[in-house]
Amino acid sequence: MNTSANANLFSRLFDGLTDLGKLAIETDGRRISYGDLIAQSGQMANFIVSRGVKPGDRVAAQTEKSVPALVLYLACVRAGAVYLPLNTAYTLNELEYFIGDAEPSLVVCDPSKADGIDKIAAKVNAKVETLDANGRGSLMDGAEKAPAEFATVPRTGEDLAAILYTSGTTGRSKGAMLSHDNLASNSLTLIDVWRFTDQDVLIHALPIYHTHGLFVASNVTLFSRASMIFLNKFDADQIIKLMARATVLMGVPTFYTRLLQNPALTREATSHMRLFISGSAPLLADTHREWSARTGHAVLERYGMTETNMNTSNPYEGDRVPGAVGFPLPGVSTRVTDPETGKELPRETIGMIEVKGPNVFKGYWRMPEKTKAEFREDGFFITGDLGKIDERGYVHILGRGKDLVISGGFNVYPKEVESEIDAMPGVIESAVIGVPHADFGEGVTAVIVKDKNTALDEATVLHALEGRLAKFKMPKRVLFVDDLPRNTMGKVQKNILRDSYAGLYKS
Ligand code: AMP
Repeated sequence: MNTSANANLFSRLFDGLTDLGKLAIETDGRRISYGDLIAQSGQMANFIVSRGVKPGDRVAAQTEKSVPALVLYLACVRAGAVYLPLNTAYTLNELEYFIGDAEPSLVVCDPSKADGIDKIAAKVNAKVETLDANGRGSLMDGAEKAPAEFATVPRTGEDLAAILYTSGTTGRSKGAMLSHDNLASNSLTLIDVWRFTDQDVLIHALPIYHTHGLFVASNVTLFSRASMIFLNKFDADQIIKLMARATVLMGVPTFYTRLLQNPALTREATSHMRLFISGSAPLLADTHREWSARTGHAVLERYGMTETNMNTSNPYEGDRVPGAVGFPLPGVSTRVTDPETGKELPRETIGMIEVKGPNVFKGYWRMPEKTKAEFREDGFFITGDLGKIDERGYVHILGRGKDLVISGGFNVYPKEVESEIDAMPGVIESAVIGVPHADFGEGVTAVIVKDKNTALDEATVLHALEGRLAKFKMPKRVLFVDDLPRNTMGKVQKNILRDSYAGLYKS
């Protein structure tokens, strides 16, 4: 924990910076230096304070990715406010819940949504400013007129820097409260384990409303005085071209599968890069292997979540194991427990993954009961992810607890079945779900995306699985689809699949 007078993340990021001319962000041919970022965040901090934002106030932002949108994050932190980014896909209806729950004093949104947001914001007396995809709007108009000098507001390490709502595929989204210490400690750890230096150039193609693009990518870059190339969207051709002068890519697994589809991805095209990182959803072992074969680089897979920042990482030096998420980060403890009793389980045994460390959040916003239920008495957070720690200490994720299939009273871990199916020739990927079944409670159901040129059908898949899986794990049905439903972070939305096939076993 940082006990110095000012543990504000902004001070920790920028105090003592000498080379103000160093490039921080490059975007669309524009170059923003560290000095520019600091000055712009000062202007924006002055402006939001003039709009009534006080230390501890929430500032909600639903904005497209742009440098001013990132500056808004820095300005909020600097002003001692709590930054609250919102997924750009949320509709007005959904925003009403978030704004009502968080009661921000300021909401920043795209001009196209301003009318609707005005009404919602009025209910909690929040002011509204706009920021569009080009980084223009009333927020910038105001900030540009404000002075750049701003005295960073002192904060303790325990004060909140941000609230990020969980994606909430079951039940209501919960606001994860993240402190200045949570964010700073995790970034500093990652810099060390991933060997970031001021020579690094990160290709930043992730959204900035999520922990991955906002904290992992941006904070790690800024803390190490590296620079990032800010891209508004994923474009495989563009990214491959940029690799000639970049050093690191942080991506979700779909980045890697899409890049692999591009013939321009070669060993030569990636020769300037030193590190490819993947996270936010499972990277298929096949993708990992294919990437190594094509480029000579082993993707480094890591595991984290909104509530905890990053927990584990494959090693920088040493085996980056396909299908595993690596070792606990320094200072982070991980254990696997029996979901019912909370008793710690031995290695190689599947159970609930729990974590503890300076990275773990302060609880859910205004949900003390929910917070209490998700922490053990000794401070471990119950992640909701099922997994195991192997003999060598590598953590493996087997899926969210809520995706566990219970068929005929037996636990079926989807990943075990998916791995067998994915290994079959002609299969691109699969998702295994539990669907209501009169006899079994839930019927194991496999949904497969197959290669266009394969003749694979239900009978062939079932036949190939026979003898490879215990009988109770065998899919009752195998279905084929063109694509699996995914959210913007590349996570397969099994809830959507479960809804689509809810009537499958009803005759
Ligand atoms: P989010 O809070 O949106 O970042 O989602 C966190 C969840 O994503 C975790 O609880 C895991 O279920 C999943 N996740 C993140 N990284 C990985 C990974 N490398 N492999 C498998 N699942 C992951």
